[in-house]
Amino acid sequence: MSSIAVGEVEVVALTDVEGPFFRLDQLFPGVPLEDWEPYFARYPWAFANESTIRGRIGGYLVKARDRNILVDTGIGPAAFGTPGSLLADMEDNGFQPADIDVVFLTHLHGDHLGWSVTEEGEPTFPRARYVTQAVEREDSGSREGQALAPLKSLGAVDLLYGEEPISEEVIAIPTPGHSPGHTSLLVSSGGESVIIIGDVVVHPAQVTEPLWNIHFDEDKEQASFTREMLLDWVEADGIVIAAGHVPGTGFGRVIREGGRRYWQALGENGARGLRAGEEEARGSRKE
Ligand SMILES: [Zn+2]
Repeated sequence: MSSIAVGEVEVVALTDVEGPFFRLDQLFPGVPLEDWEPYFARYPWAFANESTIRGRIGGYLVKARDRNILVDTGIGPAAFGTPGSLLADMEDNGFQPADIDVVFLTHLHGDHLGWSVTEEGEPTFPRARYVTQAVEREDSGSREGQALAPLKSLGAVDLLYGEEPISEEVIAIPTPGHSPGHTSLLVSSGGESVIIIGDVVVHPAQVTEPLWNIHFDEDKEQASFTREMLLDWVEADGIVIAAGHVPGTGFGRVIREGGRRYWQALGENGARGLRAGEEEARGSRKE
């Protein structure tokens, strides 16, 4: 089971798709290929090879005391010609669509809302309130924002205006840049915290290189600023990160070595090689 306990709350990592996604120079067009060199040995599980990222499209299920919150719904039934496995993964972890009380969308890009609505235009999660930032909806008048139109006409969408609580243990915190209303979810219970960060960090190398933006960061200056602020904060307060595009569970901590920050993968990882990746990374640091 790919989950961690945060006090009385459980956070379960769900995967829709994992594999080789983009070439490094496609996803990070501003980064010279040679600058990736130190990260191949440190995070072998986050590369398919020396020119291609190994990534994930995932989400998280937050089992809070009084409600179940699904954070992001993957790329959905049309994923790369075959359906993603998010719903099956959810069911394997003991949750049916009707068990979800809140669907929280960190932002309205296609790889984060794919399973929200059925092909018939019904809510996939029949009891859920669908929650996203108001500014995100207004700005996504495009294709992707329209994906939620059936939910809106059913009155199933709640819009947030800035930082707002989602439950007693969960707060939505705006982390703009990747998109205008991009929002993270801070889960705190029993003195422990996890932050689900959407696309603030999509690859572990960005913990050391917060100025590395991806092609899909809509406001690159703001995205870098948000990334640096968030990394400062989680490092200072020892908050665990949950990153839906990082392979395995995407759970990690920020650690410091030789004055630089690095990603340290955490927890049990159902996917191929994350454990092995950690061992290898540890081994290579000893050399
Ligand atoms: Zn994304």
